[in-house]
Amino acid sequence: MRTPIVAGNWKMNKSIAEARELVNAMRDELARMGAGGKTQVVLCPPFISIPEVAALLKGTPISVGAQNMFWETKGAFTGEIAAPMLNEVCEYVIIGHSERRQYFGETDEGVNKKIKTALAHHLKPIVCVGENLAQNETGQTQAFVGGQVRAAFKDIARDDARGIVIAYEPIWAIGTGKAASGAGANAVIGLTIRGALADLYDEATAQAVRVQYGGSVTPKNVAEFFAQPEIDGALVGGASLVAADFVAICKASVK
Ligand code: PEP
Repeated sequence: MRTPIVAGNWKMNKSIAEARELVNAMRDELARMGAGGKTQVVLCPPFISIPEVAALLKGTPISVGAQNMFWETKGAFTGEIAAPMLNEVCEYVIIGHSERRQYFGETDEGVNKKIKTALAHHLKPIVCVGENLAQNETGQTQAFVGGQVRAAFKDIARDDARGIVIAYEPIWAIGTGKAASGAGANAVIGLTIRGALADLYDEATAQAVRVQYGGSVTPKNVAEFFAQPEIDGALVGGASLVAADFVAICKASVK
């Protein structure tokens, strides 16, 4: 039994005041559904709002996550944020989001380094993988996504691997309104992602890791994803900025 996990990736949206407003609009309902461990909800605001959001969520079962971090832990790295800074205020960190890979040159090697540093500082990584449209249309999904998983988990011990969350996010589905099909995402997660984990570790580890689907998830299409046996939740971008939509998506994750 894997506990569902739904994370809201706010990306570069919401001022501190707006973040406060959004959290206040959904906190009570999210806290109710998170009670008793039925589902895990994570909010990932921009860095600057993390302390405020964490303070508002204190005492609730809702967790806070960052959208990125650097692999070094301190020093002359202007503009970066380190794991020992984050773990004072949050529990999760998104690593290797496709927008970071696409616009900021993040590589598989960097993703692997970030995961190791996050784990060393007791942060729970949500590691993003996913193919682009051309790869999808030319039958390269399995090789590409499998390769991303292998690279991300390189030299990571089995016990640590079990605590990592993977988000399968086909790039062509992110922010486009064109979600994958539930069955299609289920197949990539079951065969490719859990398959790579089984090769790297063992079948029990492959079955223990939680894998989210991400890419244009809305209250309308979410049931199709959560009905799939391999999908353990969602990484939600656009719909996580609307309180009613995010609450509806989280509600759908409670089995
Ligand atoms: C994301 O940012 O990870 C994402 C899946 O975005 P959206 O839900 O807007 O497609």
